[in-house]
Amino acid sequence: MSVPLLVARGLARRYSMKRGLFGAPTAVAAVEGLDLTLDQGRTLGLVGESGCGKSTTGRMVLGMEAPDAGSIAFAGQPMPRPGSAAWRALRARMQMVFQDPLGALDRRLTIGAQVAEPLVIHGIGTRADRPERVAALLADVGLRPDHAGRYPHELSGGQRQRAVLARALATSPELLVCDEPISALDVSIQAQVMNLLTEIQARLGLTMLFISHDLRAVRQVSHRVAVMYLGRIVEEGAPDAVLHDPAHPYAQALVSAIPGQQGVRRIRLQGDPPNPADRPQGCAFHPRCPLAGPVCRQAVPELKPRPGDGRLVACHVAQGEISPPMQRAA
Ligand code: SF4
Repeated sequence: MSVPLLVARGLARRYSMKRGLFGAPTAVAAVEGLDLTLDQGRTLGLVGESGCGKSTTGRMVLGMEAPDAGSIAFAGQPMPRPGSAAWRALRARMQMVFQDPLGALDRRLTIGAQVAEPLVIHGIGTRADRPERVAALLADVGLRPDHAGRYPHELSGGQRQRAVLARALATSPELLVCDEPISALDVSIQAQVMNLLTEIQARLGLTMLFISHDLRAVRQVSHRVAVMYLGRIVEEGAPDAVLHDPAHPYAQALVSAIPGQQGVRRIRLQGDPPNPADRPQGCAFHPRCPLAGPVCRQAVPELKPRPGDGRLVACHVAQGEISPPMQRAA
């Protein structure tokens, strides 16, 4: 059984938002009551619509944002306060790959200087041996030694994302959080970057949190998949189980929308997309759920193993706590 590298329990993150120029500030829950376990040397794919709290979760996991409630333990120790000396020391063991490689790189610095930056910050190696280390890191991600002397605008989108990955790997991290790492890339190079991430994760035994709205991408890299809706995980399991037999009605709709599937009926969700500023009571999915019953409007379903197969799912119907609508009517 895998040992968890990171365990998060009951995470919540709320922002204050004003409605209009003169409106009173209201609390918006980006993440609410979220539990997450990252097993050592495995990849967890976190999938959901834009605005569901995935990126906020990624930042909290790295300690870049402090949760308003809940706890995070890394390698069995509580996550230090963001910005503290202990947290900065831990940052060498946890790195992030952002969505937009051009935005993540400094246009005024060469790729070599930027890949070497974490080595300098964390005092790894000497000035003399860093060029060799940078060349090895570039080779690891499929770039040539001469790319070290180039500037970000001289590289293609795929090469830039490889450079960002080389920089993230410079400190030999144990945890890599990839936030939509392919969504800013051309379709033609997305597959190359996905293959590279899969290969590097396996070769280095990295623990990875792969955040994406694209279920196909998540399936390709992940050992487990967690589906997120409005700040909570609503289903979690092995990729094949979640993608071939989703248990939560929201996961079923997401899976049905994957293009090019034979014999799968598209489930079109009713109602508006999720709005964190207007979280429904009870199950947050109930206004759009075809299976919703009266209980769903009052009681928040707990993420727990489903009787029978142990799939983690947060749904009163999937858990057998209430009947689906046809049985209710009968
Ligand atoms: Fe739908 Fe109710 Fe399940 Fe929520 S708890 S997903 S509303 S059936």
